[in-house]
This record gives sequence, C-alpha cells and structure tokens, in this order.
Amino acid sequence: MSPVRRCSRTACGRPAVATLTYVYADSTAVLGPLATYAEPHCYDLCAEHSERLTAPRGWEVVRLLDGSAPARPSGDDLEALANAVREAARPQERAAGAAGGGPRTADPMEVARRGHLRVLRSPDN
Ligand SMILES: [Zn+2]
Repeated sequence: MSPVRRCSRTACGRPAVATLTYVYADSTAVLGPLATYAEPHCYDLCAEHSERLTAPRGWEVVRLLDGSAPARPSGDDLEALANAVREAARPQERAAGAAGGGPRTADPMEVARRGHLRVLRSPDN
C-alpha cells in the first residue's frame, strides 16, 4: 500500500531501517524501529546513517536499536517504547505551534511523560 521508505538524508536513496524522532521538550533524539507511518517530525534513516547519527550540541541520543541488531526488532517492547515517545512528541509540537513562541506552562500530563522519557535515557543503569 505504501511505497518503500527511504533514508531522509540528502542524496541517500537507501531503504530506511530506523526512524529518528526528536523530542524537543527533552532535547532528546530517539532512534527506534521504523515507524509504521511517516510523521512530520520523524526522519527515516538507512542503516549507515543510523549508525553515524550524531545529536546536535546539548542533545542526547537514545538508541532503541542495537547497532548490530537486524533491521526488524525482535520484541514488541521496543516498538511500544518508540510509539510512546512519538505520542509524547506529538502534542508538544502542536502546543508549540499554537503558543506562537511564547513560554509555555507545563501541564501534569507533560511532566508524567518527561518522567517516562527519563527512564529511557539510561538503559544501562
Ligand atoms: Zn542514508
């Protein structure tokens, strides 16, 4: 139904194997399994660009995919995590657009989501 997803990097036409999602509220870039559908703030990356990914200064990169892992994750947990992150990013972007650049007051929902993301950040601890 949908065409083959390709790497979003300029001049790179390789098939995408992962999706990069920016969580602006946490200055975190999450690299996870290929999203089931494209979203405006998600970027599909091929295997090579996934490995070479570097975050902007001051940002953290959370990799839900192991570098040596096959393109398709084995468990549903990783996909669930990636989807949760995308869910968290979605209202954030909508609110930012509506606010017109002014400072926002955090609501309880967002605090909870940020707390959830903080767990993802240090998987080794
Ligand atoms: Zn690429």
